Amino acid sequence: MKFFLLGRGLAAMGLLEALIENSSVDLSQFCVDWIGPAISDNGWSNCSRNSTAVVALHGIKRGVSPLGDDLVDAFDMAYSFYEKNKPPGVSILSRFHLTGLNKEKLFQRFGHLEEFEIMGKRFEGVSEKALVYEPLTFMNWWQERLLSKAKERGLKIHLHQDMVTALKVGSGLEVYCLGKSLQGQNVDKIVDCRGSGVNELASAQVKIKRAPGHYWLWQGREIKEDLGEDPWIYTLNGHNLIYDAKRASLILGGSTEIEGVCAKSFIGLNEQREAFLELFGEGSSIGKVLIPHKAQVFTGVRPKGQKRRPLLLKNENHIVINGFYKNGYSLCYLYGKRALDLLNL
Ligand SMILES: Cc1cc2nc3c(=O)[nH]c(=O)nc-3n(C[C@H](O)[C@H](O)[C@H](O)COP(=O)(O)OP(=O)(O)OC[C@H]3O[C@@H](n4cnc5c(N)ncnc54)[C@H](O)[C@@H]3O)c2cc1C
Repeated sequence: MKFFLLGRGLAAMGLLEALIENSSVDLSQFCVDWIGPAISDNGWSNCSRNSTAVVALHGIKRGVSPLGDDLVDAFDMAYSFYEKNKPPGVSILSRFHLTGLNKEKLFQRFGHLEEFEIMGKRFEGVSEKALVYEPLTFMNWWQERLLSKAKERGLKIHLHQDMVTALKVGSGLEVYCLGKSLQGQNVDKIVDCRGSGVNELASAQVKIKRAPGHYWLWQGREIKEDLGEDPWIYTLNGHNLIYDAKRASLILGGSTEIEGVCAKSFIGLNEQREAFLELFGEGSSIGKVLIPHKAQVFTGVRPKGQKRRPLLLKNENHIVINGFYKNGYSLCYLYGKRALDLLNL
C-alpha cells in the first residue's frame, strides 16, 4: 500500500512513530511519500518549530471532559516517549506557576498553593513536572529516528522537499506539487497533516481556525551571567518564561493574537514582560535580560479545531490529523496512534 503523508510537523511524525512501533504489521508492504519543506527551513510555515514547546498537565485530571482525558493520555505518552528515548533537546523540569491574576483559578485547578523562594524572593504558587523541548533539535532527531527505524523494518519512505499545490480528494486521489516529482499521481491514501495550511487547499470538510502565537527569544552567553547554570520555567497568568541554561536562551510567550495577526507582533508579549518585571523588579537578574530590543520575535500559526478539540477525520481515502492547537507536543503521539486505525492496516 502506498500513501502520501503531507506536512513535516508533529502530527505527521506522530503518525509515523505509531506506524513503525506497530509490530503486528509487515511494513515492507508499505511505501510512504512524505511531502513537506525541510524542518530546518524556516522559510515555510511550520508551527511545530516555532513553538514554546512545553508539555505539562497544568492541573488537568481525567474524568472531567473528553479533551481533558485526551490531554492526560497524551501527556503520559509524551512522558513515556521521553523516558524510553531520552531525545536530545528535551529536558524535564519543575514548572512553577506563580500566582497573578489567576490565583483562584490556580487553586481550583491544582487544589492547593505552595510557597517557594526564587532568587531570594518568596512567591506563592504551584509546581508541576514539565517536559521542555528545543524544537529544532528534537524534531531533527525525531525525523532521523523515524527514517532509520523505518529502514530497519523495511518500510520505504521517500522524502520530498516540496509543497502540495493542489489536492483532489474523493474517489481517485490526486496530489500535485510545486516541484516536478509528484504531479497528479494516483494514490491509495492521503494522510493530511498540513496544520494551519490545511485551509489553503480545498479538502474534506476541515474546519480549522488559524491561531497565531508569538514569542520572544533572548539568546547569548551574557544571559548566563545573570541567570546562572540551572534551567527553570516560571509561568504567570498562563504565560511561560523558560530559561534554557545549556543554550543560554530565555523565551517569553507565547501570546495568542486576537484577529489572527500573522505578522510579527509584540504588544501581547510586552504585557507579559511587564507582568514579570512587576513581580521580579527591573533591577533583578531576570529584569536585566528582558530588554525588548535585544530579543527576536518568533511566530507560529496554531491549528485550532472547534471547541479546541483535535481533529481526526476520514473522507474515503483522505485522512486528516489536525487541530492540536496548544498541545501538539503531546497530542501527536495519541492522534498518531488513533489515526492508524483509519489506515486499515
Ligand atoms: C507560540 C506558540 C507556542 C506554543 N506552545 C506550545 C507548547 O508549549 N506546548 C505544545 O504542546 N504546543 C505548543 N504550541 C502548539 C504546537 O506547536 C502545535 O500544536 C503543533 O506544532 C501543530 O503541529 P502540526 O503538525 O499539526 O502543524 P505544523 O507544525 O504547522 O506542521 C504542518 C506541516 O505541514 C506543512 N505544510 C503546510 N502546507 C503544506 C503544503 N501545501 N504542502 C506540503 N506541506 C505543507 C508545513 O510546512 C509543516 O511542515 C505552540 C504554538 C505556538 C505558535
